[in-house]
Amino acid sequence: MNPFQPLVIRRSDPAKLEIEWADGHRTSYTAAQLRGVCPCAGCVNEVTGKRMHDPSSVSPDLTQADVRMVGNYAIALRFSDGHDTGIFPYRFLRDHDPQLA
Ligand SMILES: [Zn+2]
Repeated sequence: MNPFQPLVIRRSDPAKLEIEWADGHRTSYTAAQLRGVCPCAGCVNEVTGKRMHDPSSVSPDLTQADVRMVGNYAIALRFSDGHDTGIFPYRFLRDHDPQLA
C-alpha cells in the first residue's frame, strides 16, 4: 500500500480541499494555504529553490476555481486569483500537511 495515494479528494467548500489517504490519514487545506505553498516555477525559483511569491499576499478568501487530476500522481489547481500553473503532487500535499506542520 502506498500511504501517499489519496483515496478521496473532496472540495468540501470552494475554499477548502480535503484529502483522505490510503492509510486513513486526513489532510485538509484551505485554498489560501495551497496557494501559499504553490510549487510552480512562477512561485519558486527553480534554480535556487527560493520562494518568489509571498504567501502573506494571499487573500484568506481565496477559493479554488477548478481542480484537475494530473495523471495518477498530482492535482492541478486554478485559484480565484487566476493563478493556474501549480501542479501539486500527492506526495507534496502529504509532506506539507498543515495539520502536521
Ligand atoms: Zn504557483
